[in-house]
Amino acid sequence: MFSSIRWRILIPYALLILVSLTGLGIYLNNVLYQSQLQNLEARLSDSAQIISDSLSNDLANELSTSDITARAEHWADILDARVTIISYDGTVLGESHTDPTLMNNHIARPEIQSALSTGYGSSLRYSQTVQYELLYVAVPILRDEQVIGFARVSLPLEQIESQRAQIRRTIIIGSVVTIGAAVILSIFIATLVTRPIRSLTREAQQMIEGEATKYLPTSRRDEVGQLTQAFNALVEKLQTQISALQSEQGTFTAMLQQMTDGVLIVNENGRLTLFNAAAERLFDTRESRAIGRSLAEVIRQHQLIDLWQQCIDTGQEQFIALELPRQGTFVQSIAIPLGEALPGHILMLFQDLTRIRRLETVRRDFISNISHELRTPLASLKALTETLQTGALEDPPAARRFLYRMETEVDALSHMVSELLELTRIESGQVPLKLKSVKPRKLLTKAKERLGVQAERNRVVITLDCPKNLPPVRADRPRLGQVLVNLLHNAIKFTPEGGEIKLCARQQGDKVLFSVQDTGSGIPADDLPRIFERFYKTDPARSSGGTGLGLAIARHLVEAHGGRIWADSVEGEGSTFFFTIPTV
Ligand code: ADP
Repeated sequence: MFSSIRWRILIPYALLILVSLTGLGIYLNNVLYQSQLQNLEARLSDSAQIISDSLSNDLANELSTSDITARAEHWADILDARVTIISYDGTVLGESHTDPTLMNNHIARPEIQSALSTGYGSSLRYSQTVQYELLYVAVPILRDEQVIGFARVSLPLEQIESQRAQIRRTIIIGSVVTIGAAVILSIFIATLVTRPIRSLTREAQQMIEGEATKYLPTSRRDEVGQLTQAFNALVEKLQTQISALQSEQGTFTAMLQQMTDGVLIVNENGRLTLFNAAAERLFDTRESRAIGRSLAEVIRQHQLIDLWQQCIDTGQEQFIALELPRQGTFVQSIAIPLGEALPGHILMLFQDLTRIRRLETVRRDFISNISHELRTPLASLKALTETLQTGALEDPPAARRFLYRMETEVDALSHMVSELLELTRIESGQVPLKLKSVKPRKLLTKAKERLGVQAERNRVVITLDCPKNLPPVRADRPRLGQVLVNLLHNAIKFTPEGGEIKLCARQQGDKVLFSVQDTGSGIPADDLPRIFERFYKTDPARSSGGTGLGLAIARHLVEAHGGRIWADSVEGEGSTFFFTIPTV
């Protein structure tokens, strides 16, 4: 409280006034006292001299004590003072206020001693006789140059004291009034000076509390005006910096949230201070729940906690690639110490390598599958040629049989190669689709007709369920026909005798949903997501015939039409293949 400007102005003022008034008061008091004392002494001295002169003759006539006392009382009345007449040996002969016979010898009194030696004596002291402070003045009574006694006049100092008290009172009242005026004046000055400062402080306070900043109006040219201008300049600069920081932070946040890699920052206490959207997905938790909690609590993966610990211990970047079994993902994590920027903080990045790993697996499987597909016909061709070379040529009927088998193998190989080529061309967009308006029912009927003979041979019934009023789809008729044939072909192949295959089409929003449903062997759940890959077969012995390319071709053709293909299946009960094609 006392540190405010108001008090800083007021306290020195008040002290100064108090000290100067007190000093002045004491000084005046003393000066006045001394001068009053001098006046009084002069008056008493004159009175004593007059009494001395008038008693000079009478005392020689040896007046009685009562006469002298009567004289003393008479003088005392006139002078309004105490009068004492003392003989040359100190005996009190007459006294105006007390019985002289009761008074002891006065020769030793300082004023009498002084009057005896110098002809004049004065003394200021407390009187035991009258019980208050008195100023005594004594002069000798002379007769023929001989001291025959002393006239002493004295007055109490009460009067002077009361005057001194009056002066003290005046000074005290004056001081109080002046200090009061100084207080009011300094409050006024302080208010005047501090008002703009207080409003500056209020503004700054509001800025701290996050309220919108505004400029302070100022027309003053003094220091406060300069301070206000400086404050306004500061506000402007701050605003520019804040908006720059906000936009930078916005960019940073957007970037962080859009990143496909998980990013988090762990502080020196092992608690999370940053957790982006990709990290939320990866560790299946919300940012609001993760922030402030410990790394171990949120990620619950000891290898990652070890990685963070190693990074702290070594102060170096650390890598690890691991599978997160809970999430079913494969990640590569990098822990980076943030060094001087944020001491003790570790940045952890998580790259989801699941897709890359899956692509690698697909590629590996593709190479192994294609080798497998090629090895069987090539091995059988090699065996057939060797048999022919080792003598079968000499046996024309056998040679013809072998040649026929060789032709079948070569046909299978060239079929596979042409399917592969076709797939590659579709994949690379080299097959331009001739999109036309095609009626779904017509497509289904055509596919059913084409595979009717094969279905009959396998004793499988194909039924068709397609409303007549279905809107036409935008499709390349032969290509979409090929998709249906591939699906229907598989359905016939994997459905045992007596089974049933249902061909359906239904409208679904702006698309038509086609489906091929069979009552065949079904597809194991683990294989289901992979059957659309090239060369993928559910049968590990790859004994079902076929190249494993039919569904891959179907998928690419459907996607080239702007549709989607997928399958549902229950092993042992049958499968349903669905695909959608946009309507015209
Ligand atoms: P393939 O030419 O070998 O039939 P596809 O790409 O057409 O190759 O099919 C891939 C694999 O998907 C097949 O080998 C088979 O294991 C499985 N499959 C496809 N359709 C069906 C179906 N209707 N019922 C059961 N399994 C199927």
